[in-house]
Amino acid sequence: MLAAISKNFFLAVSENKTLNKAARKWGLKFGASKVVAGETIESAIQAVKELNDKGIVATLDHLGEFVSSREEAIESTDYCVRTLEAIATSGVKSTLSVKMTQLGLDIDHDFCFDNMCRILDTATKHNLFVRIDMEDYSHCQITLDILRELRKTYDNVGTVIQAYLYRTEKDIEELKGVSLRLVKGAYKEPPEVAYQDKKDVDENYWKIIKAHLLSGSFTAIGSHDHNIIAKVKQFVKENNIPNDQFEFQMLYGFRTEMQQQLVKEGYNMRVYIPYGDDWFGYYMRRLAERPQNVAFALKGFFSK
Ligand SMILES: Cc1cc2nc3c(=O)[nH]c(=O)nc-3n(C[C@H](O)[C@H](O)[C@H](O)COP(=O)(O)OP(=O)(O)OC[C@H]3O[C@@H](n4cnc5c(N)ncnc54)[C@H](O)[C@@H]3O)c2cc1C
Repeated sequence: MLAAISKNFFLAVSENKTLNKAARKWGLKFGASKVVAGETIESAIQAVKELNDKGIVATLDHLGEFVSSREEAIESTDYCVRTLEAIATSGVKSTLSVKMTQLGLDIDHDFCFDNMCRILDTATKHNLFVRIDMEDYSHCQITLDILRELRKTYDNVGTVIQAYLYRTEKDIEELKGVSLRLVKGAYKEPPEVAYQDKKDVDENYWKIIKAHLLSGSFTAIGSHDHNIIAKVKQFVKENNIPNDQFEFQMLYGFRTEMQQQLVKEGYNMRVYIPYGDDWFGYYMRRLAERPQNVAFALKGFFSK
């Protein structure tokens, strides 16, 4: 009951524009610096280097919420291009993750598509991969439509599929051969479109992981759930799925010991590293997922 209240509270706060705007001026506060790798590209590249030294690769995400003008979308696109260039110049092992609402998805689909092409041209030049994060349900279909269109020209792009959506099993079937990150899903979705019960989400998650792995497609398992991770390890062994057909992914600052352990066991481990001054919404969504993380926030609050 308490967990449900705190989940709804943090999800609601994550969407509060005034707080998000104000937080940009505060700097990383309330423990956010444990899960956000600083506000600049330089600090993000440094975080990648530190992980690379431990045998972990990365994917960088420049944080941004509520992009509503073309100027803001172009600025976000520029950030993505600069991030790819910084990855290439520094020689770190990292891909890029992007949210298309930052690139103008809510303004004009063609404009967003053109911004994606700019990013993918830069990625192609440097032989880098770009993953489109999946946002809330209202953006799901258009994200997949744009992905299909992009894949006519680029093969270095993939997306994310969320296990809590009813539509997911069908999407997985249609996305055979595409590099996918599979996750449980982070947004608050209504019962009309998504499973509400954790048990149903977990069951569907396991179902889609097996389906994508068995189709021979590259599968990133984006989860901190030790039960799922243990099942994946067993499943790939039993089905002779090679290590280069899948990887585990976790968020920066979460379950760092387990990240190291997986590397020691010989698995590919990628950490999703968010950076930038627009950290508030991302941080609140992480607090919503795991009430225990609130301890992080409170510690940070009192130590500042
Ligand atoms: C790399 C990555 C990228 C993502 N990208 C997207 C995206 O594009 N779109 C989207 O909607 N969502 C995304 N997510 C978020 C995802 O959808 C989930 O909301 C989030 O990962 C929480 O689910 P979980 O599978 O990690 O485990 P949960 O269901 O939250 O936890 C399962 C169990 O694992 C254990 N556990 C979990 N976290 C911890 C911890 N920190 N410490 C100790 N034990 C823990 C607990 O026992 C818990 O009961 C992403 C997640 C990751 C890791």
